[in-house]
Amino acid sequence: MASVNLKTPLTFLKGVGEQRAAALLKELELETCFDLLHFFPLRYVDRTDFKTIAQVKQLTLSVAELRDVQMKGALRNMKVIGAKKGRRLVAELYDGSGTMELVWFNGINWLQKSLKPDTQYIVFGKPSIFNGVVNMMHPEMDPATTSEFQLGGKIQPIYSGTEKLKAKGMNSKMISRFVQSLFDQLTPYDLPENIPADIVEKYRLIGRFDAYKQIHFPDSDQHMQHAVRRLKFEELFIDQVKLLRVKQFRHSSSMGFIFKELDRYFNVFYNAYMPFELTGAQKRVLKEIRKDVLSGRQMNRLLQGDVGSGKTVVALLTMLMALDSGFQSALMAPTEILAQQHYAGISELVRELPIRVALLTGSIKGKQRKEILTGVADGSIHILIGTHALIEETVQFQNVGCVVIDEQHRFGVEQRAKLWNKNSIAPHILVMTATPIPRTLSMAYYGDLDVSIIDELPPGRKPITTVHRKENERLRVFGFLKEQIAEGRQVFIIYPLIEESEKLDLKNLMQGAEVIDREFPKPAYQVSILHGRMKPADKDFEMQRFLKKQTQIMISTTVIEVGVNVPNATVMVIENAERFGLAQLHQLRGRVGRGAHQSYCILMTDNKLNADARTRIQTLVQTNDGFKIAEVDMQLRGPGEIEGTRQSGAPQFAIANIVTDEAILKEARVTAEALLDADPSLGLPAHAALKKYLSEQTWKIKQWGKVS
Ligand code: ADP
Ligand code: MG
Repeated sequence: MASVNLKTPLTFLKGVGEQRAAALLKELELETCFDLLHFFPLRYVDRTDFKTIAQVKQLTLSVAELRDVQMKGALRNMKVIGAKKGRRLVAELYDGSGTMELVWFNGINWLQKSLKPDTQYIVFGKPSIFNGVVNMMHPEMDPATTSEFQLGGKIQPIYSGTEKLKAKGMNSKMISRFVQSLFDQLTPYDLPENIPADIVEKYRLIGRFDAYKQIHFPDSDQHMQHAVRRLKFEELFIDQVKLLRVKQFRHSSSMGFIFKELDRYFNVFYNAYMPFELTGAQKRVLKEIRKDVLSGRQMNRLLQGDVGSGKTVVALLTMLMALDSGFQSALMAPTEILAQQHYAGISELVRELPIRVALLTGSIKGKQRKEILTGVADGSIHILIGTHALIEETVQFQNVGCVVIDEQHRFGVEQRAKLWNKNSIAPHILVMTATPIPRTLSMAYYGDLDVSIIDELPPGRKPITTVHRKENERLRVFGFLKEQIAEGRQVFIIYPLIEESEKLDLKNLMQGAEVIDREFPKPAYQVSILHGRMKPADKDFEMQRFLKKQTQIMISTTVIEVGVNVPNATVMVIENAERFGLAQLHQLRGRVGRGAHQSYCILMTDNKLNADARTRIQTLVQTNDGFKIAEVDMQLRGPGEIEGTRQSGAPQFAIANIVTDEAILKEARVTAEALLDADPSLGLPAHAALKKYLSEQTWKIKQWGKVS
């Protein structure tokens, strides 16, 4: 047989064959030797460690999670009992400390012949509890004379399989044998070092081939840990180098429009029509943007700023810079309501200037739509505001110079990419997000973007007071709402939305609405209701009534989640707050506290809460700082679940975990930065291997390079 390399399909690996390869592909998505190599053990068992039967029983009854254990003992009273599917071989294992029943359902005849009574065996398996008695099903049996090496090494890897694989006899041990068979054929040549030598030395990393070998077959616990660290570092380092090169590539070669002029629109607006003084943070960010649009390179900037921090006006000012140089701009929002708000807000701000702003959403049709499309195409519309429709449909700009994307977590990387393709010189891109992302996350996920942060709220904002109230305090809460309404304020009451049961949610919301109707009778009180099943026009109608203060209470599902601006609303009541995620709660809370009045967020929950829910609620009560909240969120849920990263085509790491490996990520980042600073083209001989390694994986970089 020809020797295997990492690209070889598993079918051709010794001991696998077609059927097993098919099962590995179907169950574990393992296709090639490379995939198998990266199928890292879930954990390890120490085959030098033996427990007595008494210890195993005690452990099993006291520990929640059952783990594989190893015992030494002899068998007696072996017999076959039961019939048909219940037919099984049972035997009593004994050592000096006690006895335990062993049970096998499969391979009975063969086991009966090969297992000898009163002979010492090494017994390995996972104990289980049946009717309060500890036993073991399908243990692996080896003669007591078997060496550790024959058992699969001192420290044996445990691979996570699936029930289907196990039913085919493909257990962890068999997967381990496949990996062993792979290593029988691999040489260090197949896994050449890809990290430059000085870095390997500085961080005391073990070699690449060694690391893969040791992670599958560790010589000791310490070797295993070195292997894990090396592979995590490698994964994060390579990822950072790639991201930084994308950025570097864009900085050096992606042409960008130059927005030099400021006189006709920007300065006029800034000096005569700005309704307020910019905050220090807004000014700083604006300078960063200014530098980008003068650089001759395409801007790709992520603007992070907590809800209410004033991102919109920064976006507008950026679009005015474009306009001054004769370019159109587009602003995209994730929902129609938001697009409408932006349209209303921006039209109002530039009302005195000769600027044509248009709104294009899915519900604008027919003649009106045609007119807008014509205006966009002939350049008479200067700023086009809309939803996804802007990129999903064939909107042809005359010359779009700047694209602003609000609430970017709704737009994945791929969607962003669509924009860039529309033009030969890509427009400047400003991505705005109110979902604060922990620094480590933005490093890993947005490492290719430049990041600006607005970390200051406009002056005079009173921090929102957040409280936690339980069902038995409901009347008190209603009393408070009445006081606020009596003072002329308005109130949001939000019900959770669970995707699986929209009907149930609607029922919750409607029941809630009935209670509110009773407690807040007409005509003294007027109530708006908003939910996802309403037609856009009806939603808009209710939203407008609330905005015009014709209603005092807005009952809604999370459709109002993002961005909606109603400065007179001062109370946000969130029903079943325990059912919301942290980021979402924070977003919802950000709907209030936008005007001059003190605002409140009331988190209503059941009396009983689980630990996670309690942490979430307490975090909200304690802090308004979106970044702190994001940190807690990441700790609770892990990076993969953080809003905005899962859908955005973020990289999946095979071994690194950016929550727990923050320190390694930082090392990888600074190392990658220093490397590319010193040798931007990776032209030095010392970096040749890294360069070669990257070039073998360029599809990803190329794709990104092209689209951005
Ligand atoms: P977000 O960052 O959440 O999109 P917005 O841009 O909607 O925030 O701004 C929130 C509110 O704060 C708006 O009413 C806006 O007019 C106001 N605002 C923005 N910047 C300032 C400022 N520098 N001074 C006073 N008010 C401001
Ligand atoms: Mg906004």
